[in-house]
Amino acid sequence: MIPSDWMPDAAIARIILHWTAGSHKATDFDRKHYHVLIEGDGKPVKGFPSIAANSLPRAKSGYAAHTLNCNTGSIGLSMCAMAGSNERPFKPGSYPLTKSQWDAASTAAADLCKRYKISVSPKTVLSHAEVQANLGIRQRGKWDIAILPFDTAFDTARECGDRFRAEVAAKLARL
Ligand SMILES: [Zn+2]
Repeated sequence: MIPSDWMPDAAIARIILHWTAGSHKATDFDRKHYHVLIEGDGKPVKGFPSIAANSLPRAKSGYAAHTLNCNTGSIGLSMCAMAGSNERPFKPGSYPLTKSQWDAASTAAADLCKRYKISVSPKTVLSHAEVQANLGIRQRGKWDIAILPFDTAFDTARECGDRFRAEVAAKLARL
């Protein structure tokens, strides 16, 4: 699904999944901050920074700044969704995260895991909403993936992250 020329040689430790808090389309603003974006219909869009710019041991100029103090060695994968949403009470807004983009994001993450030899764990494939808990790196508390609008039984960062990891691991096993 992810073209091989989007995945240059790089030393990568993890993939961090986000939502953009924008519409279902990838804007140029969004494309500056992430390596790969998934639009509302599941279409992948390449961000502007190269994954190689975020390579260990030190990010280079022009790297994708997607996670506070955790960009080196981290791929930023983001689902274009959630503009106009509200956390409490929960309102999905006009651009809710869709099941097709969630599925496309796990397919993309499986491709990235295979290419960069990342094994799936809570420290290596995680959402931005899990970074503070799973990696111990303080974040600003901006609301990120902690509910799935298409399946609201998943309403914590951990539950969403566990579901994503299970889906990525299943797809990776078939690659
Ligand atoms: Zn984020």
